[in-house]
Amino acid sequence: MTTFIDISHMQQLIRKTGVQQFITELTGFIEDDYRNWAHFQKCRRVANHSALGVIELMPTASEILYGFKYVNGHPSNADKNNLTVMAFGALAETDTGYPLLLSELTLATALRTAATSVLAAKYLAPHHVRTMAVIGNGAQSEFQILAFHTLLGINHFRLYDIDPRASEKLKNNLTEYQAIHLHISDSVAEAVQGADIITTITADKKNATIIKPEMISDNVYINAVGGDCPGKTEIHPDIINRARVVVEYEPQSRIEGEIQNMPASFAVTELWKIINGNVNNRDFQHGLTVFDSVGFAIEDFSTLRYIRHLSEKYRIGEKIELVPQPADPRDLFSYIK
Ligand code: NAD
Repeated sequence: MTTFIDISHMQQLIRKTGVQQFITELTGFIEDDYRNWAHFQKCRRVANHSALGVIELMPTASEILYGFKYVNGHPSNADKNNLTVMAFGALAETDTGYPLLLSELTLATALRTAATSVLAAKYLAPHHVRTMAVIGNGAQSEFQILAFHTLLGINHFRLYDIDPRASEKLKNNLTEYQAIHLHISDSVAEAVQGADIITTITADKKNATIIKPEMISDNVYINAVGGDCPGKTEIHPDIINRARVVVEYEPQSRIEGEIQNMPASFAVTELWKIINGNVNNRDFQHGLTVFDSVGFAIEDFSTLRYIRHLSEKYRIGEKIELVPQPADPRDLFSYIK
């Protein structure tokens, strides 16, 4: 039997753990899998592009488990009051192919993206960061703020979105967190001025230059999350050109990340090398550093692993017969006789 986690099960799992503990524990699962980087089969995600967006499949496998995520990105969905990003995924036994878990991953993607962002910042951002600018206040944004508040102790956030209703929504959603101070800015330039960390998490299918060189100092950490597709970036190429850039999986980021605007010779560092100590993280904790995040399959694999762990711990989820179990496995026809 396969465990099925729908939206209501996921809500129950998040309520049981609490969103801050969920992000904290998930960050640990992702960090563990990044430490085991060499043991994973890795490939770029398979992307089917259309005029309005993209639908992607993100597979990876360890010796024990196989996982994949289906995810889309359709910025214009918002015009029809629909989600920009939706996802679901599965975890299976590598040895047999039997599916163990089929899960919603829309809520979980927001949590895992925030967890990955804060995991990278834990290694790459300067110590004692106090203020973060959050540019783009849509579906992902609250999760980013909670992650950076919980794991890095940031209490002051400056918000900017071209749609003021998005910033108001964000503010209303986080009113219960009294230690979090949110200030809505009138422009990107105002929001980023003096911020220790800048998170960009906008959605627009174009090479945008939301952060321009004249807006920032040479001493800031940029968590660039929204540019994650060919022809969809957020940071001015002159900033990328003079920054130290960290990516998740270089072959995928060269096509999808901010570095798609850079020549192939432009040097980048993969995050797993920093987490494993192959590259010294202190070299990134001062000056201008960009985490050029596009989302990588291992992060979703870790998320599926964590969901399975929580599902077993709290006995939440439905057992479904996703694959047939005939008495004689060669007699599949018996199911339809
Ligand atoms: P969303 O549509 O809910 O929110 C996007 C917000 O960006 C909207 O409020 C919109 O008004 C705002 N925006 C658009 N252009 C802007 C601009 N120029 N300046 C300021 N604000 C602007 O989308 P979402 O689900 O929050 O996702 C945001 C982005 O993050 C998407 O591009 C998505 O593909 C990306 N994403 C990346 C990862 C990753 O792992 N790197 C994971 C999930 C989502």
